[in-house]
Formats: sequence, C-alpha cells, structure tokens
Amino acid sequence: MSRFLNKKYSCLEPYTPGEQPRDMKYIKLNTNESPFPPSPKVIEAVSREASMQNLYPDPTGKALCESIARLHSVNPENVTLSNGSDELLAFVFMALSENGIAFPDISYGFYPVYAKVFGTDAVKVPLHEDFSIKAEDYYNAGRTVLIANPNAPTGMALSRDEIEKIVKNNAENLVVIDEAYVDFGAESAVPLTKKYDNILVIGTYSKSRSLAGARLGYAIASKEIIADLNRMIFSFNPYNVNRLALVAGYHATEDVDYFNACVKKIISARAWTAKELENMGFSVLPSSANFVFAKKEGISGEKIYTRLKEKGVLVRYFSGKRVSDFVRITIGTHEQMEILIEKCKEVLNEEA
Ligand code: PMP
Repeated sequence: MSRFLNKKYSCLEPYTPGEQPRDMKYIKLNTNESPFPPSPKVIEAVSREASMQNLYPDPTGKALCESIARLHSVNPENVTLSNGSDELLAFVFMALSENGIAFPDISYGFYPVYAKVFGTDAVKVPLHEDFSIKAEDYYNAGRTVLIANPNAPTGMALSRDEIEKIVKNNAENLVVIDEAYVDFGAESAVPLTKKYDNILVIGTYSKSRSLAGARLGYAIASKEIIADLNRMIFSFNPYNVNRLALVAGYHATEDVDYFNACVKKIISARAWTAKELENMGFSVLPSSANFVFAKKEGISGEKIYTRLKEKGVLVRYFSGKRVSDFVRITIGTHEQMEILIEKCKEVLNEEA
C-alpha cells in the first residue's frame, strides 16, 4: 500500500474473481460464463464496427435500449445500460441505499465489498436451513432490499409471486432483483416494474448471451429510477458502455433463435450433470442457473476443487461457514460435463 491511499480504503477486502487462466489447458467451469461463443451475427457486426473505434459510442445506447425494451415489453425510458451489471450494482450501493441495504448472508460475493467501499450499512439475512430465501424475511425492511434471483452460489430461485410479495411489503423501500442467471429457468420480475415503482431489475449479457468479455449489463425500472441511475452514470463515466459492446449487445438481443438454442443446451446439460452427481452420492441444490452447487459427505469443497484442478477441470469453492463443503460447477457443453463427471469419479475413487 502506498502512503497516498485514502485511509478509508486501507481496510478494503477486494472481491476475488474466479481464476482466468491464459492458456486454455483447463476445462473452465469456474466463473459461470457461457461455453458457447457469441451469436455469429454478433461476431460479424462487431468486426464491422471495429473500424469505427476512433469515435466515442452513443452515451445513451439508444438502439440497444430500444431492443431490450422491445424484448421485455417496456419503454426505452425504462431501460439503461452499464459496463457489466456489477457497475449498476455499485450504483445501487452508492446512490440508492441511503438507509442501508439488506441481502442474503449467502449470495453474490461482491455485495459485501460494495457495502464496504461505499460505506453502506448492510444487514445480512440468513438463508434458511435448506438454503432457501423466504419472502417474509424481507418485509418492511426499512432499507433497500437486494436479492439475486436465482441466488448465487446456490442457484435456487424465488417465483415471481414471492418477489411480488417482497415488493408489496416494502412500499417505502427499493427492491433490487439481480437477474444475472434468470434465463436458465427462473421467472423474471421485469413485469412487476410496470406495476410497482419500487422495484429495479438488473440483468447481464455475461451469462445466457455469451458476452462476458464485452462487459454489458442493463437495468429495467420506472422511468424515475432509470433517470436516477443515468444521473449517476453521467456523473461518473458517460461512455460506460463501449462501441463494440453496444453493437454486440444489440445483435445478441435480436438473435432470439441463437439465444434460445444455447439456453436449451445448458438446461439439458444441467439436468444430466445433476443426475450424474447425485448417482455418485453428491447432494445437489435445485438449480435454476447455469451452475450447480454440490457437496459430497466426507470431502471438502476445497479438496474437490484442488483435485479437479490437477486433472484439468476448474470449478469454484468458497470458504464461508455453511458453504465450505460445496463446489460450484458452471454448466458447460455436454462434452465438458462428461469429462467433469469422469474426473469426479476418479477423485472419489482416489480419495476412498
Ligand atoms: N450478479 C451475480 C449474482 C453474479 O454472479 C455476477 C457475475 N459474477 C454479476 C451479477 C455480475 O455480472 P457482470 O458484471 O458480468 O454483468
């Protein structure tokens, strides 16, 4: 640490992203990316746009906002864009949580980091014994409520009706739903944004739309909340979404067939993987996401992670209290999942 760092940041514990190895000697099932490349239409459009890199992008991202609005049957004024959904989450902590924030104790690891960096008072609401979230736990929170739905790293989802109960019972508070994984089997809360003025839905192009490298997120909410977010964006980095990401996002949104085909393959590979893991004696939480959270009696998450890594498969483990027995396994292609299962069998045999 240099002597120049503002003291208030000296005790930050930064978020640790999953490993991003340069060489692709690993089967990479550790950061919930899509195993599929972006749509061919995206690749073609980005190549064309590359020659325009001397010009700034449209700071309003108009064409992409309109495309997202059409997809979700809302108006463009109900949509804004960001450099990854992490950026919008940062604005939630920075600017939309004056009375503090509440989120599940086991959830996306960036939430506590943002609470620290922006000095947001954070209440962590314990998940239930079965790792579920109960709507009642968030009623009349007296602060902003933030829920990842499906939750990460559990993969478990609340229904739209349950989310609606949380929104209804927090008329004076903002309810933020982080839908990073919603396309893999959960119900989106976007329709609620037309009925309630206290819900903000945040989504990403990093998972179901194969654009993790482009860094693109979006928000859908009342036009007033979107105006607030734009006020923050235009006070911080008006060109937050670059030219290539805008074009990539537009074509990824428009190519519905490609999107549907990719999501279908992931859901089918997830069902197969969960069954195979269970056959091997793993407990697997019910997942509506592009990953499964699984544990095997008698072997820690870290041990499984280390042994699989030695065999060329990267997964993720967590050190927290109730999660250290688990590994989070991103769903890749069917072929990748076959290798994962084969390697898991080897690990269990060798550890027996
Ligand atoms: N929310 C959740 C629950 C996530 O797991 C992630 C990805 N790590 C994000 C948001 C952020 O995604 P991105 O910034 O790539 O849009």
